[in-house]
Amino acid sequence: MSESKNGTVTGEDEVVDLCSELIRIDTSNYGDHSGPGERAAAEYVAEKLAEVGLAPEIFESRQGRASTVARIEGEDRSRPALLIHGHLDVVPANADDWTRHPFSGEVADGCVWGRGAVDMKDMDAMTLAVVRDRLRTGRKPPRDIVLAFLADEEAGGVFGARHLVDNHRGLFDGVTEAIGEVGGFSFTVNENLRLYLIETAEKGMHWMRLTVDGTAGHGSMTNKDNAITELCEAVARLGRHEFPVRVTKSVRGFLDELSDAFGVELDPEDMETTLAKLGGVARMIGTTLRNTAAPTMLGAGYKVNVIPGQATAHVDGRFLPGYEEEFLAELDTVLGPRVKRETLHSDKALETGFDGSLVEAMQSALKAEDPIARAVPYMLSGGTDAKSFDDLGIRCFGFAPLQLPPELDFAGMFHGVDERVPVDGLRFGVRVLDRFIDNS
Ligand SMILES: [Zn+2]
Repeated sequence: MSESKNGTVTGEDEVVDLCSELIRIDTSNYGDHSGPGERAAAEYVAEKLAEVGLAPEIFESRQGRASTVARIEGEDRSRPALLIHGHLDVVPANADDWTRHPFSGEVADGCVWGRGAVDMKDMDAMTLAVVRDRLRTGRKPPRDIVLAFLADEEAGGVFGARHLVDNHRGLFDGVTEAIGEVGGFSFTVNENLRLYLIETAEKGMHWMRLTVDGTAGHGSMTNKDNAITELCEAVARLGRHEFPVRVTKSVRGFLDELSDAFGVELDPEDMETTLAKLGGVARMIGTTLRNTAAPTMLGAGYKVNVIPGQATAHVDGRFLPGYEEEFLAELDTVLGPRVKRETLHSDKALETGFDGSLVEAMQSALKAEDPIARAVPYMLSGGTDAKSFDDLGIRCFGFAPLQLPPELDFAGMFHGVDERVPVDGLRFGVRVLDRFIDNS
Protein backbone atom coordinates (compact mmCIF):
# COMPACT_ATOMS: atom_id res chain seq x y z
CA MET A 1 0.00 0.00 0.00
CA SER A 2 1.35 3.39 -0.96
CA GLU A 3 0.97 6.55 1.09
CA SER A 4 0.76 10.16 0.07
CA LYS A 5 3.22 12.74 1.39
CA ASN A 6 1.36 13.72 4.51
CA GLY A 7 1.06 10.10 5.56
CA THR A 8 -2.66 9.74 4.87
CA VAL A 9 -3.71 7.05 2.44
CA THR A 10 -6.04 8.45 -0.21
CA GLY A 11 -8.52 6.69 -2.45
CA GLU A 12 -6.27 7.26 -5.44
CA ASP A 13 -3.38 5.62 -3.57
CA GLU A 14 -5.42 2.58 -2.66
CA VAL A 15 -7.44 1.85 -5.74
CA VAL A 16 -4.80 -0.10 -7.65
CA ASP A 17 -4.01 -2.39 -4.70
CA LEU A 18 -7.71 -2.96 -4.05
CA CYS A 19 -8.29 -3.84 -7.70
CA SER A 20 -5.29 -6.22 -7.80
CA GLU A 21 -6.31 -7.93 -4.59
CA LEU A 22 -9.90 -8.41 -5.78
CA ILE A 23 -8.64 -9.90 -9.07
CA ARG A 24 -6.43 -12.34 -7.13
CA ILE A 25 -9.53 -13.75 -5.44
CA ASP A 26 -10.81 -16.14 -8.12
CA THR A 27 -14.59 -15.72 -8.37
CA SER A 28 -15.14 -17.49 -11.70
CA ASN A 29 -18.80 -18.09 -12.34
CA TYR A 30 -19.51 -21.14 -14.53
CA GLY A 31 -23.24 -20.74 -14.10
CA ASP A 32 -23.63 -24.05 -12.23
CA HIS A 33 -22.06 -23.51 -8.75
CA SER A 34 -18.98 -25.54 -9.73
CA GLY A 35 -16.76 -22.46 -9.35
CA PRO A 36 -15.14 -21.09 -6.19
CA GLY A 37 -18.06 -18.74 -5.44
CA GLU A 38 -17.89 -15.16 -4.22
CA ARG A 39 -17.66 -15.77 -0.45
CA ALA A 40 -13.94 -14.91 -0.13
CA ALA A 41 -14.38 -11.71 -2.14
CA ALA A 42 -17.50 -10.77 -0.16
CA GLU A 43 -15.52 -11.21 3.09
CA TYR A 44 -12.64 -9.17 1.70
CA VAL A 45 -15.00 -6.32 0.82
CA ALA A 46 -16.75 -6.54 4.20
CA GLU A 47 -13.42 -6.29 5.99
CA LYS A 48 -12.42 -3.22 3.95
CA LEU A 49 -15.73 -1.55 4.81
CA ALA A 50 -15.62 -2.53 8.50
CA GLU A 51 -12.12 -1.03 8.79
CA VAL A 52 -13.59 2.42 8.19
CA GLY A 53 -16.50 2.01 10.58
CA LEU A 54 -19.31 0.59 8.46
CA ALA A 55 -21.38 -2.42 9.48
CA PRO A 56 -21.48 -4.57 6.32
CA GLU A 57 -23.63 -7.68 6.15
CA ILE A 58 -22.86 -10.75 4.10
CA PHE A 59 -25.77 -12.59 2.50
CA GLU A 60 -25.15 -16.13 1.37
CA SER A 61 -27.85 -17.26 -1.04
CA ARG A 62 -26.32 -20.71 -1.36
CA GLN A 63 -23.11 -22.32 -0.10
CA GLY A 64 -20.25 -20.05 -1.16
CA ARG A 65 -22.42 -17.66 -3.16
CA ALA A 66 -22.26 -14.43 -1.19
CA SER A 67 -23.00 -10.71 -1.54
CA THR A 68 -21.98 -7.87 0.79
CA VAL A 69 -24.25 -4.92 1.55
CA ALA A 70 -23.65 -1.84 3.69
CA ARG A 71 -25.41 1.47 4.24
CA ILE A 72 -23.58 4.77 4.70
CA GLU A 73 -25.49 7.44 6.58
CA GLY A 74 -25.82 10.68 4.65
CA GLU A 75 -25.98 14.30 5.84
CA ASP A 76 -29.68 14.51 5.07
CA ARG A 77 -31.30 11.23 6.02
CA SER A 78 -34.72 12.41 4.88
CA ARG A 79 -33.58 12.34 1.25
CA PRO A 80 -34.01 9.20 -0.86
CA ALA A 81 -30.94 6.95 -0.91
CA LEU A 82 -28.54 6.18 -3.75
CA LEU A 83 -27.49 2.62 -4.55
CA ILE A 84 -23.98 1.88 -5.82
CA HIS A 85 -23.78 -1.71 -6.99
CA GLY A 86 -21.11 -3.91 -8.50
CA HIS A 87 -20.75 -7.64 -9.02
CA LEU A 88 -17.97 -9.71 -7.49
CA ASP A 89 -18.10 -12.69 -9.85
CA VAL A 90 -16.25 -12.90 -13.15
CA VAL A 91 -16.53 -15.08 -16.23
CA PRO A 92 -13.97 -17.91 -16.35
CA ALA A 93 -10.57 -17.42 -17.99
CA ASN A 94 -8.21 -19.92 -19.60
CA ALA A 95 -4.72 -18.97 -18.36
CA ASP A 96 -3.00 -20.51 -21.41
CA ASP A 97 -4.53 -17.89 -23.68
CA TRP A 98 -3.30 -14.94 -21.62
CA THR A 99 -0.08 -12.91 -21.72
CA ARG A 100 -0.23 -12.60 -17.92
CA HIS A 101 -2.02 -14.90 -15.53
CA PRO A 102 -5.71 -13.92 -15.38
CA PHE A 103 -5.76 -14.13 -11.57
CA SER A 104 -2.43 -12.41 -10.97
CA GLY A 105 -3.73 -8.87 -10.63
CA GLU A 106 -0.30 -7.91 -11.95
CA VAL A 107 0.50 -4.26 -12.56
CA ALA A 108 2.46 -3.92 -15.80
CA ASP A 109 2.64 -1.51 -18.75
CA GLY A 110 0.52 0.97 -16.82
CA CYS A 111 -2.37 -1.44 -16.39
CA VAL A 112 -3.82 -3.79 -13.81
CA TRP A 113 -4.18 -7.15 -15.55
CA GLY A 114 -6.60 -9.92 -14.90
CA ARG A 115 -10.09 -11.30 -15.22
CA GLY A 116 -12.49 -8.68 -13.89
CA ALA A 117 -10.18 -5.72 -14.56
CA VAL A 118 -12.97 -3.99 -16.50
CA ASP A 119 -15.90 -6.29 -15.65
CA MET A 120 -16.08 -5.21 -12.95
CA LYS A 121 -13.59 -5.42 -10.11
CA ASP A 122 -12.34 -2.04 -11.31
CA MET A 123 -15.58 -0.37 -10.22
CA ASP A 124 -15.71 -2.47 -7.02
CA ALA A 125 -12.21 -1.22 -6.17
CA MET A 126 -13.03 2.39 -7.08
CA THR A 127 -16.15 2.31 -4.92
CA LEU A 128 -14.22 0.85 -1.97
CA ALA A 129 -11.39 3.37 -2.41
CA VAL A 130 -13.73 6.37 -2.52
CA VAL A 131 -15.88 5.23 0.37
CA ARG A 132 -12.87 4.43 2.55
CA ASP A 133 -11.28 7.79 1.80
CA ARG A 134 -14.49 9.68 2.58
CA LEU A 135 -15.07 7.84 5.84
CA ARG A 136 -11.45 8.19 6.98
CA THR A 137 -11.63 11.94 6.39
CA GLY A 138 -15.11 12.32 7.88
CA ARG A 139 -16.80 13.35 4.63
CA LYS A 140 -20.37 12.12 4.80
CA PRO A 141 -22.26 11.77 1.52
CA PRO A 142 -25.13 14.23 1.10
CA ARG A 143 -27.67 11.39 1.40
CA ASP A 144 -27.70 7.73 2.38
CA ILE A 145 -25.74 5.43 0.11
CA VAL A 146 -26.39 1.70 -0.06
CA LEU A 147 -23.38 -0.28 -1.26
CA ALA A 148 -24.02 -3.69 -2.79
CA PHE A 149 -21.22 -6.02 -3.92
CA LEU A 150 -23.05 -8.85 -5.58
CA ALA A 151 -22.73 -12.50 -6.50
CA ASP A 152 -23.74 -14.20 -9.71
CA GLU A 153 -24.26 -11.34 -12.16
CA GLU A 154 -22.54 -13.28 -14.93
CA ALA A 155 -25.18 -16.01 -14.71
CA GLY A 156 -28.19 -13.70 -14.48
CA GLY A 157 -27.92 -12.63 -10.83
CA VAL A 158 -30.29 -15.27 -9.44
CA PHE A 159 -27.96 -15.90 -6.48
CA GLY A 160 -26.98 -12.24 -6.12
CA ALA A 161 -29.08 -9.19 -6.98
CA ARG A 162 -32.24 -11.20 -7.65
CA HIS A 163 -31.88 -13.03 -4.32
CA LEU A 164 -31.50 -9.78 -2.36
CA VAL A 165 -34.37 -8.04 -4.16
CA ASP A 166 -36.69 -10.99 -3.57
CA ASN A 167 -35.64 -11.91 -0.02
CA HIS A 168 -34.04 -8.85 1.59
CA ARG A 169 -35.96 -6.01 0.04
CA GLY A 170 -35.59 -3.89 3.21
CA LEU A 171 -31.91 -3.34 2.41
CA PHE A 172 -33.01 -1.02 -0.36
CA ASP A 173 -35.61 0.96 1.59
CA GLY A 174 -35.71 4.54 0.37
CA VAL A 175 -33.44 3.89 -2.60
CA THR A 176 -34.69 5.68 -5.72
CA GLU A 177 -31.61 5.79 -7.96
CA ALA A 178 -28.64 3.57 -8.68
CA ILE A 179 -25.34 3.46 -10.51
CA GLY A 180 -23.52 0.32 -11.64
CA GLU A 181 -22.01 -1.15 -14.80
CA VAL A 182 -21.71 -0.75 -17.96
CA GLY A 183 -21.17 2.95 -18.56
CA GLY A 184 -19.08 5.99 -17.78
CA PHE A 185 -16.16 4.89 -19.96
CA SER A 186 -14.63 7.22 -22.51
CA PHE A 187 -14.48 7.27 -26.29
CA THR A 188 -12.02 9.84 -27.61
CA VAL A 189 -13.31 11.57 -30.73
CA ASN A 190 -10.43 14.06 -31.14
CA GLU A 191 -8.23 16.30 -29.01
CA ASN A 192 -11.19 18.54 -28.25
CA LEU A 193 -13.80 15.96 -27.45
CA ARG A 194 -14.08 12.85 -25.33
CA LEU A 195 -17.46 11.17 -25.02
CA TYR A 196 -18.40 9.31 -21.86
CA LEU A 197 -21.16 6.81 -22.51
CA ILE A 198 -23.71 6.68 -19.69
CA GLU A 199 -25.99 3.65 -19.82
CA THR A 200 -29.64 4.68 -19.67
CA ALA A 201 -31.22 1.64 -21.29
CA GLU A 202 -30.79 -2.10 -21.71
CA LYS A 203 -32.24 -4.46 -24.25
CA GLY A 204 -34.43 -7.28 -23.01
CA MET A 205 -34.00 -10.94 -23.89
CA HIS A 206 -35.97 -13.99 -24.95
CA TRP A 207 -34.09 -17.26 -25.18
CA MET A 208 -36.26 -19.64 -27.18
CA ARG A 209 -36.60 -23.18 -28.35
CA LEU A 210 -38.22 -23.79 -31.73
CA THR A 211 -39.72 -27.16 -32.51
CA VAL A 212 -41.12 -28.65 -35.69
CA ASP A 213 -42.95 -31.98 -35.59
CA GLY A 214 -42.97 -33.94 -38.84
CA THR A 215 -43.52 -37.47 -40.04
CA ALA A 216 -40.81 -39.93 -39.07
CA GLY A 217 -39.78 -42.61 -41.53
CA HIS A 218 -37.14 -44.46 -43.50
CA GLY A 219 -34.48 -42.26 -45.11
CA SER A 220 -34.86 -44.04 -48.46
CA MET A 221 -38.54 -43.21 -48.85
CA THR A 222 -40.31 -40.12 -50.15
CA ASN A 223 -41.24 -37.81 -47.27
CA LYS A 224 -42.98 -34.49 -47.86
CA ASP A 225 -43.18 -33.79 -44.11
CA ASN A 226 -39.54 -33.82 -43.00
CA ALA A 227 -39.16 -31.95 -39.70
CA ILE A 228 -35.54 -31.04 -40.42
CA THR A 229 -36.37 -29.48 -43.77
CA GLU A 230 -39.26 -27.49 -42.33
CA LEU A 231 -37.28 -26.29 -39.34
CA CYS A 232 -34.20 -25.37 -41.34
CA GLU A 233 -36.21 -23.28 -43.75
CA ALA A 234 -37.76 -21.36 -40.86
CA VAL A 235 -34.43 -20.93 -39.05
CA ALA A 236 -32.74 -19.72 -42.24
CA ARG A 237 -35.54 -17.18 -42.80
CA LEU A 238 -35.13 -15.92 -39.25
CA GLY A 239 -31.34 -15.82 -39.43
CA ARG A 240 -31.49 -13.66 -42.54
CA HIS A 241 -34.37 -11.52 -41.33
CA GLU A 242 -33.60 -7.91 -40.58
CA PHE A 243 -35.89 -6.40 -37.98
CA PRO A 244 -36.89 -2.77 -38.66
CA VAL A 245 -34.97 0.13 -37.14
CA ARG A 246 -36.72 1.45 -34.03
CA VAL A 247 -35.15 4.51 -32.48
CA THR A 248 -35.87 4.60 -28.73
CA LYS A 249 -35.26 7.74 -26.71
CA SER A 250 -31.81 6.62 -25.48
CA VAL A 251 -30.61 5.86 -28.98
CA ARG A 252 -32.21 9.08 -30.26
CA GLY A 253 -30.33 10.96 -27.52
CA PHE A 254 -27.10 9.17 -28.38
CA LEU A 255 -27.41 9.92 -32.10
CA ASP A 256 -28.34 13.56 -31.44
CA GLU A 257 -25.28 14.05 -29.23
CA LEU A 258 -23.06 12.38 -31.80
CA SER A 259 -24.53 14.42 -34.65
CA ASP A 260 -23.75 17.52 -32.68
CA ALA A 261 -20.26 16.31 -31.69
CA PHE A 262 -19.27 15.29 -35.21
CA GLY A 263 -21.15 18.12 -36.87
CA VAL A 264 -22.88 15.71 -39.25
CA GLU A 265 -26.38 14.39 -39.75
CA LEU A 266 -26.76 10.80 -38.59
CA ASP A 267 -29.57 8.91 -40.19
CA PRO A 268 -30.52 5.77 -38.24
CA GLU A 269 -32.31 4.42 -41.32
CA ASP A 270 -29.07 4.55 -43.27
CA MET A 271 -26.85 2.51 -41.00
CA GLU A 272 -24.06 1.84 -43.46
CA THR A 273 -23.18 5.51 -43.68
CA THR A 274 -23.96 6.20 -40.04
CA LEU A 275 -21.76 3.43 -38.68
CA ALA A 276 -18.88 4.41 -40.94
CA LYS A 277 -18.81 7.77 -39.17
CA LEU A 278 -18.66 6.28 -35.69
CA GLY A 279 -15.47 4.25 -35.75
CA GLY A 280 -15.05 2.18 -32.59
CA VAL A 281 -18.44 3.09 -31.14
CA ALA A 282 -20.18 1.41 -34.05
CA ARG A 283 -19.97 -2.07 -32.55
CA MET A 284 -21.61 -0.86 -29.35
CA ILE A 285 -24.66 0.76 -30.90
CA GLY A 286 -25.23 -1.23 -34.07
CA THR A 287 -27.46 -3.72 -32.28
CA THR A 288 -29.34 -1.14 -30.25
CA LEU A 289 -31.22 0.11 -33.30
CA ARG A 290 -33.34 -2.97 -33.81
CA ASN A 291 -34.56 -6.22 -32.29
CA THR A 292 -32.39 -9.23 -33.11
CA ALA A 293 -32.92 -13.00 -33.16
CA ALA A 294 -29.82 -15.13 -33.65
CA PRO A 295 -30.15 -18.90 -34.22
CA THR A 296 -27.56 -20.49 -31.90
CA MET A 297 -28.22 -24.27 -31.65
CA LEU A 298 -29.72 -27.02 -33.82
CA GLY A 299 -30.83 -30.51 -32.88
CA ALA A 300 -32.39 -33.40 -34.82
CA GLY A 301 -31.93 -37.00 -35.84
CA TYR A 302 -29.97 -40.00 -34.55
CA LYS A 303 -29.17 -42.14 -37.59
CA VAL A 304 -28.34 -41.37 -41.20
CA ASN A 305 -31.14 -43.50 -42.70
CA VAL A 306 -33.90 -42.40 -40.30
CA ILE A 307 -35.96 -39.26 -40.82
CA PRO A 308 -36.68 -38.00 -37.29
CA GLY A 309 -40.15 -36.98 -36.18
CA GLN A 310 -38.92 -33.77 -34.62
CA ALA A 311 -36.30 -31.07 -35.07
CA THR A 312 -35.38 -28.25 -32.68
CA ALA A 313 -33.42 -25.02 -32.73
CA HIS A 314 -32.46 -22.46 -30.10
CA VAL A 315 -32.59 -18.74 -30.70
CA ASP A 316 -31.13 -15.85 -28.71
CA GLY A 317 -33.63 -13.01 -29.08
CA ARG A 318 -33.02 -9.45 -27.89
CA PHE A 319 -35.65 -6.73 -27.96
CA LEU A 320 -35.63 -2.98 -27.54
CA PRO A 321 -37.43 -1.28 -24.63
CA GLY A 322 -41.08 -0.93 -25.63
CA TYR A 323 -40.91 -3.43 -28.51
CA GLU A 324 -41.33 -6.84 -26.88
CA GLU A 325 -44.79 -7.51 -28.30
CA GLU A 326 -43.82 -6.34 -31.76
CA PHE A 327 -40.74 -8.55 -31.58
CA LEU A 328 -42.68 -11.71 -30.70
CA ALA A 329 -45.36 -11.06 -33.30
CA GLU A 330 -42.77 -10.48 -36.01
CA LEU A 331 -40.91 -13.64 -34.97
CA ASP A 332 -44.04 -15.72 -35.43
CA THR A 333 -44.71 -14.19 -38.82
CA VAL A 334 -41.20 -14.98 -40.00
CA LEU A 335 -41.18 -18.51 -38.54
CA GLY A 336 -44.57 -19.47 -39.96
CA PRO A 337 -47.30 -21.78 -38.66
CA ARG A 338 -45.28 -25.02 -38.59
CA VAL A 339 -42.90 -23.84 -35.89
CA LYS A 340 -43.78 -24.12 -32.20
CA ARG A 341 -41.99 -21.41 -30.19
CA GLU A 342 -41.32 -21.70 -26.44
CA THR A 343 -39.56 -19.11 -24.27
CA LEU A 344 -36.87 -20.73 -22.10
CA HIS A 345 -35.75 -17.58 -20.35
CA SER A 346 -36.74 -13.96 -20.66
CA ASP A 347 -35.85 -10.70 -18.99
CA LYS A 348 -37.18 -7.23 -19.43
CA ALA A 349 -35.76 -4.25 -21.25
CA LEU A 350 -35.05 -1.03 -19.35
CA GLU A 351 -35.02 2.61 -20.28
CA THR A 352 -34.80 5.83 -18.30
CA GLY A 353 -34.34 9.43 -19.37
CA PHE A 354 -31.02 11.20 -19.59
CA ASP A 355 -32.06 14.02 -17.31
CA GLY A 356 -32.38 15.08 -13.70
CA SER A 357 -29.96 16.04 -10.96
CA LEU A 358 -28.14 12.69 -10.84
CA VAL A 359 -27.27 12.96 -14.54
CA GLU A 360 -26.11 16.53 -13.91
CA ALA A 361 -23.91 15.25 -11.08
CA MET A 362 -22.31 12.76 -13.49
CA GLN A 363 -21.77 15.41 -16.14
CA SER A 364 -20.24 17.97 -13.80
CA ALA A 365 -17.96 15.41 -12.10
CA LEU A 366 -16.64 14.25 -15.48
CA LYS A 367 -16.19 17.81 -16.74
CA ALA A 368 -14.29 18.83 -13.62
CA GLU A 369 -11.74 16.05 -14.15
CA ASP A 370 -11.68 16.15 -17.95
CA PRO A 371 -12.36 19.52 -19.61
CA ILE A 372 -13.13 17.88 -22.98
CA ALA A 373 -15.64 15.44 -21.47
CA ARG A 374 -19.14 15.15 -22.82
CA ALA A 375 -21.56 12.69 -21.24
CA VAL A 376 -23.95 10.98 -23.66
CA PRO A 377 -26.71 8.41 -23.06
CA TYR A 378 -26.54 4.99 -24.67
CA MET A 379 -28.29 1.64 -24.65
CA LEU A 380 -26.52 -1.58 -23.65
CA SER A 381 -27.34 -4.50 -25.90
CA GLY A 382 -26.89 -6.96 -23.00
CA GLY A 383 -28.23 -7.03 -19.46
CA THR A 384 -26.99 -6.28 -15.94
CA ASP A 385 -28.17 -6.48 -12.32
CA ALA A 386 -30.04 -3.23 -13.03
CA LYS A 387 -32.90 -5.43 -14.29
CA SER A 388 -33.43 -6.74 -10.73
CA PHE A 389 -33.20 -3.31 -9.08
CA ASP A 390 -35.64 -1.87 -11.62
CA ASP A 391 -38.24 -4.17 -10.04
CA LEU A 392 -37.99 -2.04 -6.89
CA GLY A 393 -38.74 1.10 -8.90
CA ILE A 394 -35.10 2.18 -8.74
CA ARG A 395 -33.92 4.31 -11.64
CA CYS A 396 -30.72 2.66 -12.85
CA PHE A 397 -27.74 4.08 -14.71
CA GLY A 398 -24.51 2.51 -15.92
CA PHE A 399 -21.87 4.83 -14.50
CA ALA A 400 -18.48 3.36 -13.62
CA PRO A 401 -16.31 6.30 -14.69
CA LEU A 402 -13.14 5.36 -16.52
CA GLN A 403 -10.90 7.41 -18.78
CA LEU A 404 -9.35 5.18 -21.40
CA PRO A 405 -6.53 5.68 -23.86
CA PRO A 406 -7.99 5.93 -27.40
CA GLU A 407 -6.08 2.88 -28.63
CA LEU A 408 -7.50 0.48 -26.02
CA ASP A 409 -10.21 -1.82 -27.41
CA PHE A 410 -12.46 -1.44 -24.39
CA ALA A 411 -15.48 -3.33 -25.75
CA GLY A 412 -13.14 -6.23 -26.60
CA MET A 413 -11.93 -6.37 -22.97
CA PHE A 414 -15.31 -7.55 -21.65
CA HIS A 415 -14.99 -11.31 -21.18
CA GLY A 416 -11.93 -11.11 -23.48
CA VAL A 417 -8.37 -12.37 -23.28
CA ASP A 418 -5.79 -10.05 -21.63
CA GLU A 419 -8.48 -8.04 -19.86
CA ARG A 420 -6.78 -5.07 -18.20
CA VAL A 421 -7.53 -1.60 -16.93
CA PRO A 422 -5.21 1.42 -17.07
CA VAL A 423 -3.95 2.56 -13.65
CA ASP A 424 -4.56 6.18 -14.68
CA GLY A 425 -8.11 5.26 -15.63
CA LEU A 426 -8.75 3.83 -12.16
CA ARG A 427 -7.33 6.91 -10.45
CA PHE A 428 -9.42 9.13 -12.71
CA GLY A 429 -12.49 7.07 -11.81
CA VAL A 430 -11.85 7.56 -8.10
CA ARG A 431 -11.68 11.34 -8.49
CA VAL A 432 -14.85 11.43 -10.61
CA LEU A 433 -16.81 9.15 -8.28
CA ASP A 434 -15.79 11.23 -5.28
CA ARG A 435 -17.01 14.43 -6.93
CA PHE A 436 -20.13 12.67 -8.14
CA ILE A 437 -20.99 11.65 -4.58
CA ASP A 438 -20.48 15.25 -3.39
CA ASN A 439 -23.08 16.41 -5.93
CA SER A 440 -25.45 13.50 -5.66
ZN1 LIG B 1 -20.25 -7.09 -15.59
